[in-house]
Amino acid sequence: MQKTLSIIKPDATVRNITGKINAMIEDAGLKIVAQKRIRLTKEQAQEFYIEHKDKAFYDDLVEYMTSAPVVVQVLEGENAITDYRKLMGTTNPATAEDGTIRKTFAESITHNSVHGSDSEESAAREVNFFFNHLEILD
Ligand code: ATP
Ligand code: MG
Repeated sequence: MQKTLSIIKPDATVRNITGKINAMIEDAGLKIVAQKRIRLTKEQAQEFYIEHKDKAFYDDLVEYMTSAPVVVQVLEGENAITDYRKLMGTTNPATAEDGTIRKTFAESITHNSVHGSDSEESAAREVNFFFNHLEILD
C-alpha cells in the first residue's frame, strides 16, 4: 500500500466543504488514514513549499496557505500518489477535467482547494512533515 499527503487548502476550509472533498476522496477508493485541522505558520508554509522558493508566486502562496486553517491528511491506496493527483485535476482549475476536485471546487490557480504529493520522495517527506507513525492508522 502506498501513502500520499493531502492538504485541503484555506479556500475549501473557509467555504466549509472539507466533508464534500473527503467524500470524493473516499468515493475514489482512497482511505483517509490520518487527518488533522491546523493553522500553518509562515515558517511552516515556507518550509513545506521550499521547492518553489524562487518562483514569482512563492510569497503569495505562503500568505494564502497561512490565511486560514487547512486540513492535512494521509491517504492510502495501491497507487495513492497518482490516483490522488488524477482525482485532484490540473493545478489550474480552468484546464481540469470534469469530476476532479479542482474542476468541482477550485476558485483559481492559487485557490485550488487541494494539494497532493507528486512523487514517492515528496510523499515520504510531506507525510513526515506533518505526522508521526503513531498518528497514522490504517
Ligand atoms: P500542489 O503542490 O499544491 O499539490 P501542484 O503540484 O498542482 O499543486 P505546484 O506546481 O506544485 O502545483 O504549485 C504549488 C502550488 O502553488 C499550486 O497548487 C498553486 O496553489 C500555486 N501555484 C502554482 N503555479 C502558480 C502560478 N503560476 N500562479 C499562482 N500560483 C501558482
Ligand atoms: Mg506540487
